[in-house]
Order: sequence, then structure tokens, then C-alpha cells
Amino acid sequence: MADSPAARFALNDLLRSSAVQKIDFSIGPYAINGPGYLRVAAAVVGRSMGVDVDPKRLAADEGAAYEAPTNELVFRTASLALNTVQRMNVVHECTHALIANRRFRWDGTYTNSEAAAYVAGALYVAYSVSALAREMLSDGSLDF
Ligand SMILES: [Zn+2]
Repeated sequence: MADSPAARFALNDLLRSSAVQKIDFSIGPYAINGPGYLRVAAAVVGRSMGVDVDPKRLAADEGAAYEAPTNELVFRTASLALNTVQRMNVVHECTHALIANRRFRWDGTYTNSEAAAYVAGALYVAYSVSALAREMLSDGSLDF
């Protein structure tokens, strides 16, 4: 498919949400925090970062992806995600985008980047606990 203004809008909203803006930690040389996500949001809105909605570019088990060579985020749908757990995946990919769009660090490793993305996703879920509670079914399971 192609560039999606709707996905850019949804991404801007997510990255400016209180749950994402509360994220604040460091792993290895990478500081992951609200101002970093605001820089990603600005790049998305200012179109210096690509946003593509094309499920054919994603593996069957992939909800989203950040493609470093082209500096673009790829999503399955223009709404990005339908629930907190899917948005966790978007936050994970945006953390890779945050790291890739900062000054290059020779001391940063793939493991640092992956660990940071998973911690950011987990913190996003923790900070979204009220939304997660609304999405849970009466038997305690989550509806995906
Ligand atoms: Zn990752």
C-alpha cells in the first residue's frame, strides 16, 4: 500500500499519550523517555519518518515493524492497534525508531535495543492498566 495519514495521526496520538510519556529508563547507552517519543511523533507528523500500512510487508506473527534502512514504521492497519497489547507492540517498534533516530552509538548493541523495546512495551502496558482492565473479558482472559 502506501503512506497513511490516518496511521500518522493515530501514531502521533499514541506517542503523546500519558502512558507513553511516563516511560523513562535507560538500558546500556540508550535513554528511553517521553521527549524521545515526542521526537518520533514529530518525525512522523513532519514526514521525515515513513509510515506505511501494508500487511504484506509483515510476517504472519508480526503486528508492526520498524525498518531501519528506510526509516519507516510498517503497520497492519491504519488504526495501528485495536487494544493495549497490540499497542504495546507499536510502542516496541517506536522504541526501535527512537533509538535509530538518535545520534549513533558505537557502544549500543542489538541486545540493548531489543531489551529497551521490550521494557518500553511492558511499561506501556503497566501504565495503561485501566485500559487493559476494560479490555479483559469477564473470565480474566484478553480478547485479541
Ligand atoms: Zn524489537
